[in-house]
Amino acid sequence: MITLPDAKLFIDGVLRDAQGGATFDVISPWTGQPVGKAANASAADVDEAIASARRAFDTTDWSTNVAKRVELVTKLRALFEENRERLSDLARNEAGAAMGAVGRAHVDMALDGWDDYLRLFPQLKWEKDYGGRTGYGFETRRQAVYEPVGVVGAITPWNVPLYVNVGKVVAALLAGCTVILKPAPNTPGMGAIFGELALAAGFPAGVLNVIFGSDPALAGEMLVTDPRVDLISFTGSTGVGKRIMEQGAATLKRVFLELGGKSAKIVLEDSANFAMDVAQSMLVFHAGQGCAVHSRLLVPRSRYEEAKAVLKHAYASFGDNWGDYDNPAHIMGPVVSQRQMERVLSYVDIGQAEGATLLAGGKARPDKGSGYFIEPTCFADVTNDMRIAQEEIFGPVLVVIPFEDDDDAVRIANESAYGLCGGVFSADLDRAIAVAKRIRTGSVSVNGGMCIAGDLPFGGYKASGIGREWGLEGIEEFLETKLIAWRA
Ligand code: NAD
Repeated sequence: MITLPDAKLFIDGVLRDAQGGATFDVISPWTGQPVGKAANASAADVDEAIASARRAFDTTDWSTNVAKRVELVTKLRALFEENRERLSDLARNEAGAAMGAVGRAHVDMALDGWDDYLRLFPQLKWEKDYGGRTGYGFETRRQAVYEPVGVVGAITPWNVPLYVNVGKVVAALLAGCTVILKPAPNTPGMGAIFGELALAAGFPAGVLNVIFGSDPALAGEMLVTDPRVDLISFTGSTGVGKRIMEQGAATLKRVFLELGGKSAKIVLEDSANFAMDVAQSMLVFHAGQGCAVHSRLLVPRSRYEEAKAVLKHAYASFGDNWGDYDNPAHIMGPVVSQRQMERVLSYVDIGQAEGATLLAGGKARPDKGSGYFIEPTCFADVTNDMRIAQEEIFGPVLVVIPFEDDDDAVRIANESAYGLCGGVFSADLDRAIAVAKRIRTGSVSVNGGMCIAGDLPFGGYKASGIGREWGLEGIEEFLETKLIAWRA
């Protein structure tokens, strides 16, 4: 284990402690022990950050100087490259990423996505010509111009903190907004590094501010309710997302929400590699703590017993090959916190009480360490109306549900409050794509195709959110449309 550098606030171009010097401990998911300290922002700190971002937007050339923005965002990207090791340390020690998962999901994907934003940015249209139109006895020429929306509050979760921070901060900065980043209390360091490196890159004061505190709601609620903030870009749970929408209403805030999921992976009976497709559904990567994971596995009733046998074998083979801090082959570590562990274990009790069959796992594993370890867990004989099939567990818990035919699979997939992702597997590509088109989610992967990448828009239907992040669409979320019309 290591000790992380103190996480400092970054307000008005100054890297600093909280007013009054308050701090809170950053807890390692591996040990349950402090692994670092973070400044504990007070209401006064948050207020100063908002004022600074407002000032920078209103009084500097950040919103209009595209070349300067590209130069500084590119410079910041280069500094992140130099800090890959520190980023890995943060992902491992704050978010509990296992060594075999840390590169891919926690660092590479985020920095590749950053490169995608920079590559796509020149394609962004800043104007659109609507041509002339004659009416009322004269001709009018019409043009739309796209302008940055203003001050952005970016509120982010702990599970893939670098990826989400980059998704919001880089897009908003490129669009010409000024930003206040508020990471989750579990992962302040992954926010603080944005402040440190922005300072080193020479960002003008106030363009990017970073604040965090031990109270998950304080800074977030201030950003959501303050009239000086124009847009909230939030990634997190659906419950908090709803609250943000309600609280943002008073100032008619633009609200962008990336929320939870309960995505269904449908393996059709003609899948070319049925056993492999079923076995690879084990929810183990990052202990299942991903919004986009396929946490419901749908298999044909005609092959249900076979699927159960495959999964039993797959979980047994996975065995105890998880949970070692130093093992580069391990892709699963602990869940993030005591609270999260209790929550996940409560769903194991709920599933058993609902009559589902525990096919694998289900227990806490204190023998793995003093942190928050839960076995890879799988429930079979699940019906889609059970709470374990409807509610986001956000842990290493897979539920397996039988279906009768394609229509039934689509019905089950769609009978969910959520609509984030999904998967379809079949040897018949046309059939798989036809099923994918009927699933009401923001993305669907067919035969394992990657639908999450920095150059693709990502987001949810229904209770999984509003708006799209990443791709050009992800930058456009931070723009307003202004129409200018002149008499010819
Ligand atoms: P969370 O909703 O508890 O917290 C997210 C952020 O909101 C944190 O920064 C937190 O401090 C802040 N917050 C908490 N209460 C607030 C309030 N009242 N007002 C303003 N801000 C507040 O979520 P989490 O536990 O950090 O993350 C897990 C959740 O995030 C899961 O539901 C997961 O599905 C979701 N998630 C979604 C995506 C996506 O792209 N759709 C990506 C990653 C995670």
